[in-house]
Amino acid sequence: MSMTIAQLEQDRITNHPNAVRVLAYLAPNRMDWIVSCPFCGLHHQHGAADGDPGSAGLRSPHCPPGALRTQDYYLIPDGSIAAATLDKFRKMDRRRLRTLNREIEQRRSTEAIQRRLRREQAFAEAASVVARERISGA
Ligand SMILES: [Zn+2]
Repeated sequence: MSMTIAQLEQDRITNHPNAVRVLAYLAPNRMDWIVSCPFCGLHHQHGAADGDPGSAGLRSPHCPPGALRTQDYYLIPDGSIAAATLDKFRKMDRRRLRTLNREIEQRRSTEAIQRRLRREQAFAEAASVVARERISGA
């Protein structure tokens, strides 16, 4: 099944109304799509372009574990070949990945702290109820 860009747009609106629209560039090898992921900021590569714009469409982003990936996205071909080679994108992504991993770690530790605070608060509230009951009962 091969679609024109206008048909891809229509398919996205009709069948995947919530899918984020992402511009896809043809890789220099002219076989794969390259997209800059709106969820994690890394570049993802999707196969099966084979130079055919109609092979784009709905894809699942391969974001690293823990990255904020909320949904699938819909590739719309930009019509141009990616300016950088895949190697260049991978070098850029290695830097971005280190930053992303740090962000994920920070988020996890923040979430852990918030969970601990909630537990401590619940414990303090339960303790104060017991204390009030003791006082009023005495
Ligand atoms: Zn991603």
